Amino acid sequence: MDAPSFATFPWLGLGACSLLCLMVAILAGATTWVRRSADALKLKGAGRWNLLFRGMCLAFLIGAVTVGWPALVAAWVIVPIALIAFTLRRDAHFPKSQRYLSRRGLRNIFGDMLAALQRGGGSQPAARLSIREQVSQLIGRARQSAVRRPKHAAPATAVAAKPKDGFAFLKKDGTTAIEMGVDGAPDGAGAVVSENVSNARDVMLKAIRVEATDIHFEPHEQTYFVRARVDGVLRDMDKMDGVVGKGVISAIKVISDMDIAERRRPQDGTFAVHCGADRFEIRVASTPTSYGEKLVMRLLRSSGGVVAGGLNAIGLRPPILRQLREIIHKPYGMFLVVGPTGSGKTTTVYASLSEIDAHQHNITTIEDPVEYRLENITQIAVNTKADVSFANILRSVLRQDPDVLLVGEIRDRETAEIACQAALTGHFVFSTLHANDSVATITRLLDLGLESTLIQTAVTAVLGQRLARRLCPDCKERCSPPDGMIKKLNLKPGVVPFIYRERGCEKCGGSGYRGRMGIHELLVMNNDMRSLVRPSPSITDLRKAALKSGTLTLQIDGLFKVIQGETSVNEILRVTT
Ligand SMILES: [Zn+2]
Repeated sequence: MDAPSFATFPWLGLGACSLLCLMVAILAGATTWVRRSADALKLKGAGRWNLLFRGMCLAFLIGAVTVGWPALVAAWVIVPIALIAFTLRRDAHFPKSQRYLSRRGLRNIFGDMLAALQRGGGSQPAARLSIREQVSQLIGRARQSAVRRPKHAAPATAVAAKPKDGFAFLKKDGTTAIEMGVDGAPDGAGAVVSENVSNARDVMLKAIRVEATDIHFEPHEQTYFVRARVDGVLRDMDKMDGVVGKGVISAIKVISDMDIAERRRPQDGTFAVHCGADRFEIRVASTPTSYGEKLVMRLLRSSGGVVAGGLNAIGLRPPILRQLREIIHKPYGMFLVVGPTGSGKTTTVYASLSEIDAHQHNITTIEDPVEYRLENITQIAVNTKADVSFANILRSVLRQDPDVLLVGEIRDRETAEIACQAALTGHFVFSTLHANDSVATITRLLDLGLESTLIQTAVTAVLGQRLARRLCPDCKERCSPPDGMIKKLNLKPGVVPFIYRERGCEKCGGSGYRGRMGIHELLVMNNDMRSLVRPSPSITDLRKAALKSGTLTLQIDGLFKVIQGETSVNEILRVTT
């Protein structure tokens, strides 16, 4: 007699068929999940669990073919028991909040199991290290935001310039030099100037459209090359005939009040540009080269941009953001933002300042030059030619009952000393400094000639900063994380299943990146750190104390942002090494 099988039973209808298919799916999924989880957690007896689930798969297949429905019933009893047993075993490795067989876990169990299958490795092992905990939070958040955010969302800091209306060149004093349409001819300029000016306008418009921060006019034998710095990297923008290039340079020199006849000496000037609703302050510097005059223009968007969004807009991780908000609302002390030129220090200081209530506090800034205009804040520009230095202004400003001070940059001992004194006498001082990282700031201040006791008492916190380019959301592609990164973060393999890398498309000009964000390390001065600040401090000890107090380095902060899919490992290595 033939063994009873599904084929011989007339009751084999849709119901049994779906139960059968469902069991096949459950067994296949469970076997994969058990294998990956057991491996990732390095569970004791991982091999036995694997064997058990594979054995059940095999037994079910054989049973289904040979004995039919009794095998199906048995599977529906045994497989869930085995699955619960394994889950209990797995849960023992996790804190309560991450257990599947808890009230919260059960609520999400199906979602979590699915995600675990997709990520291939279950959730992260229970972490003793804070870095691991933070990584697991990041992965969770990245998953949530991947669901919430539309695929082509613009990066937070990218404020696209789409000039629609008018375009005007403004003189330094704010009077309109030349007003013109974006496509039309200039209104108030003579016919000879017009072509040069409209060429200059075209270059400016192009640069504004790609969100350039600098424009370079470089003379070569017969031609002028125009390059633009976008997201911190120079790229070719235009090439023009030598005569045309010279014409554009002359036009710009006229607008920025430079001596048009002087071509042998370096000069500098400023002007502004109104483009649609945006205003840009432009600093111009000319240098004679062997082929002719080279011109570099720096564009500063004075109509807000990133600053308008406050600290939320500059890419701080939530723990740093929380700490920073606490620090800047203290009644007195000193907060320093440090990094090399072009690392976004000024933007961060302004963003912090914009979070302080300007109606309740007397806020004064001393800058060189004033880069962004802020409401209800007294802004003073340094003028070294007229002997109006940071230190001079600072002294006089202190007599005007300020609550909050922004000293554009600490460059010398005098400024540093007055700023520290101010911080000790009931004012909160913001400033920037050229230093590689937060710990190096201490030695830099000592090198300036500051007393170690002054540093100990005045400095509240130091934020080290770099700017990293954001991956272009339209072309970034998945890749597996390099071993070096996993090691650096002290993670187990498989915890971060994938990251993204740059590729390049039309929208990002082939660079693979669009927009920038900050990476940060925040050093809050505590008693340990203070005791280490002495005339010739040990950098190693300072670093150890910083690490102990929870300061994560710039590179680690950057790698967190790699895990979040915002930037690439290459980019973080480029800006931190
Ligand atoms: Zn792209």
